[in-house]
Amino acid sequence: MSFFRSMTRAPKAPKRSPTPTSATLSPTEPSFNNNNNHSAPPSPVVPSPTKPLYLCSPFVEAALVKGNFKTIVMLPKYVDIMEWVAVNIYDFYTNLNEFYGVLTECCTQQSCPTMSAGTALNYTWINQDRKSVNLPAPTYIDYVMTWVQNLLDDESVFPTKSGQDFAPSFPSTVKHIYRQLLRVFCHLYHAHYHQILHLRSEPHFNSLLAHYLAFGREYELLEIRDLRGNGNDSKQPGIGALWERWRDMGILDG
Ligand SMILES: [Zn+2]
Repeated sequence: MSFFRSMTRAPKAPKRSPTPTSATLSPTEPSFNNNNNHSAPPSPVVPSPTKPLYLCSPFVEAALVKGNFKTIVMLPKYVDIMEWVAVNIYDFYTNLNEFYGVLTECCTQQSCPTMSAGTALNYTWINQDRKSVNLPAPTYIDYVMTWVQNLLDDESVFPTKSGQDFAPSFPSTVKHIYRQLLRVFCHLYHAHYHQILHLRSEPHFNSLLAHYLAFGREYELLEIRDLRGNGNDSKQPGIGALWERWRDMGILDG
């Protein structure tokens, strides 16, 4: 939407996470700078020759919703676009947070010492000194979820009373939220899909991600480069391939 693209005011500074786990790290905001997205040296990992389970049949087809997701992301008649985006962000966050809540005991500092999202991709956090640092995935996700929760609770960002307008920075803020929640999806698919299968939650989780991707593309909240990486296949998030597969299957548009 050109409407969103035209609004480029600087985003509100994220709040400090209330749950820092290290005295030496003071991350106050997620990494918004694309140049820093994949800048951390990857952990020494051996690329797996096997296809990830989420790309394999029947898991890749598992869904609660049949057909193209475009139909459920279209702006309903008479609904304000800001309200529509706000309520969907709230739902995506709430659902993703509940999924993560189920998986927290599997996602520990020991099992996930970095915010991994692909064979050679680890997301890094920008700390208070603007340095890119590796954090254990549960810490990174905790910071993201706390940051988003604080924004959702902030009336100046997500107004809930009639007569209150959305700030001009709202589209920009939402894009930042979108990128960070996508990273949480990326980590869960990359590192915890077998546990999702164990819980038989793959139709739910696939549908949530497909809905998230469809909504993000429809309202230009989701950057293609965040799905595909920067052209280096080993730096591509695992779900980039899933996104392409779902497009081929007609579940998602381009
Ligand atoms: Zn994990």
